[in-house]
Amino acid sequence: MAVIETKNLTYTYGEGTPFVKTAVDNVSLSIEEGEFVGLIGHTGSGKSTLIQTLNGLLKPTSGQVLLKGKDIWEEPKKIRAVRFQVGMVFQYPEHQLFEETVLKDISFGPRNMGLSDQEIEEKARQAAQFVGLTEDFLEKSPFELSGGEKRRVAIAGVIAMDPDVLILDEPTAGLDPRGRDKLLSQIVDYHKKRGNTVILVSHSMEDIAKTADRVLVMDDSREAMFDSTRAVFARGDELEQMGLRVPQITKIMSVLKEKGWPVDPVLTVEQAVR
Ligand code: ADP
Repeated sequence: MAVIETKNLTYTYGEGTPFVKTAVDNVSLSIEEGEFVGLIGHTGSGKSTLIQTLNGLLKPTSGQVLLKGKDIWEEPKKIRAVRFQVGMVFQYPEHQLFEETVLKDISFGPRNMGLSDQEIEEKARQAAQFVGLTEDFLEKSPFELSGGEKRRVAIAGVIAMDPDVLILDEPTAGLDPRGRDKLLSQIVDYHKKRGNTVILVSHSMEDIAKTADRVLVMDDSREAMFDSTRAVFARGDELEQMGLRVPQITKIMSVLKEKGWPVDPVLTVEQAVR
């Protein structure tokens, strides 16, 4: 069943001004429950605008976003609830940490959901576990943590709201290669255990190839491709024409998959090339 769909979705910035720009142009797509979708496209192709319409931060200029079959703007007063169901992790989310302790920060979302204190704490602790934050982190100040740890606290804060759809915008940006691989495997693990839908926006074709079941390619505000990861990366020449650099690794991985070989979702480049 589709968890989230768009129908002729269009979003235009600055309508009625000389700076008018249609950032999402007539996009109709359907994402199934439990899918792991990769979202790629060159800078300015409309990725960020698209994901913000999916969780109701931006209201479509025309067309619809349907969550479990229902137009999210049908009852504008309920749009806040949509933002819990479609959780969004922005780029560099650690800039939004503000509570005294890690546990309080992770609990912030669930505390706004009308749950009991016990339920809030359970959700927060579980979310911390998903991102590999052990018990001894929970009472620390988020400001004592390393960059990668802060990032994980911020992601846990969204996971704690138990969203049906989790959208992550460049979650590994700025992390060192080890931190990146670790976070990515935690996201894959979370997705496997929770079984919800994940949409991962990334510049890293490698990260997308390792994780996604299907890949959506945005080009110049339009949906250029939406197909299995293998099928999309098999069209490497077209991707390169859209300004996307497809490193050798993705070609190798698509070959592996094509051959029906099991591909470890957290396979490192070195392992894949060897
Ligand atoms: P991406 O996330 O793929 O880089 P964006 O959705 O951020 O793409 O941007 C798509 C287009 O919309 C770009 O041309 C960008 O300049 C424009 N745009 C984005 N945000 C705004 C804004 N707040 N006002 C006007 N134009 C914007």
